[in-house]
Amino acid sequence: MSTTMNQAANSLNIFEQIGANDHEQVVFCNDPVSGLKSIIAIHNTTCGPALGGTRFWNYANDAEALRDVLRLSRGMTYKAAISGLNLGGGKAVIIGNSYTDKSEALWRRYGKFVNGLAGRYITAEDVGTAKEDMEYIAMETKHVTGVPEYMGGSGDPSPVTAFTTYLGMKASAKKVFGNDSLAGKVVAVQGAGHVAQYLIGHLVKDGAIVHVCDINSDKVASVVKEHGVKVVDADAIYDLKMDIYSPCAMGATVNDATLKRLSCSIIAGCANNQLEDEKIHGQQVKEMGIVYAPDFLINAGGLINVATEREGYNRERAMGKAEQVYKRTLDIFAKADAENITNQAAAILIAEQRIQQLAKLKSSL
Ligand code: NAD
Repeated sequence: MSTTMNQAANSLNIFEQIGANDHEQVVFCNDPVSGLKSIIAIHNTTCGPALGGTRFWNYANDAEALRDVLRLSRGMTYKAAISGLNLGGGKAVIIGNSYTDKSEALWRRYGKFVNGLAGRYITAEDVGTAKEDMEYIAMETKHVTGVPEYMGGSGDPSPVTAFTTYLGMKASAKKVFGNDSLAGKVVAVQGAGHVAQYLIGHLVKDGAIVHVCDINSDKVASVVKEHGVKVVDADAIYDLKMDIYSPCAMGATVNDATLKRLSCSIIAGCANNQLEDEKIHGQQVKEMGIVYAPDFLINAGGLINVATEREGYNRERAMGKAEQVYKRTLDIFAKADAENITNQAAAILIAEQRIQQLAKLKSSL
């Protein structure tokens, strides 16, 4: 091996990255014929099989894709645990352009890889994937959720994710303003995708003043047409005078640079991994007096919905479980205050407690 190759191999540190958060298994899937390049990460299966969506994204490089899937799958472990679901945490990414690179062959090949994991990983939608894609995956494996209603599935999980995000935002408003009405509050929604469009519907109905941005102008136009909301430039969103910043696109938007620009009372959105560094930026947000609603707590609606699909889908049962997010958010705020820790830390503590309890229960059975 040449020196350059040795250096490249050494700089990957794959096991160091996987080990840093105790991931159980990471699978690299490659199919040159369909162009599939995917990474499936199983973080923790103590509470049950790892369920998490498949993200289709044009990553700048493989290292960025690996980092994303490791962060996302860890978040899924906490999301399932805090939501009281008997599921573990996993996630998958497909490296490519979701507008041009999808094909039946790619999805079916991916479905075969998921099937090879024999139920340890169950997939669903995420950014860049839709229920129609799940239909192809379902041709190759039963370990897929969020499949269309006409196939007996629960369809798009986004409306339920939007509902729990909205409840988390209302709980945050109760904490900050003394009541949970969002009427007259300025909410800046970053992203006008699947979840955001439903979330904006709730906010407008409540009388909130919504500003929206997206890097895709068609998505913005569609939301403006439906809800008559205001538009803010994607780069200017952090400078807007707002009450609530609602990240509903990609992760890590709460970071050193944006915290210098953000002036809001609440951060509550559906995007996964909003805090670039959960300890540093969680603490910084707390010190700035901003109430941060932990993302994995309030965006759990979609997971709750697809989890219900596994028991034979029932919308009422899913919505009943989703409604619990409002009280759970207030409980987390109370715990964080009582222990003088960040809201993120309080949520992780509760999730880890449940995982430890279930581990003990399993070993005693
Ligand atoms: P989506 O792909 O439908 O929407 C995301 C939108 O964000 C796209 O329209 C994209 O153009 C836009 N975007 C990307 N970068 C942007 C930027 N810098 N500024 C503004 N807009 C930008 O995805 P979605 O399903 O609505 O999910 C949104 C977020 O919520 C993701 O982080 C996802 O992981 C998370 N989430 C989704 C669900 C669900 O049920 N769909 C559940 C839990 C969490």
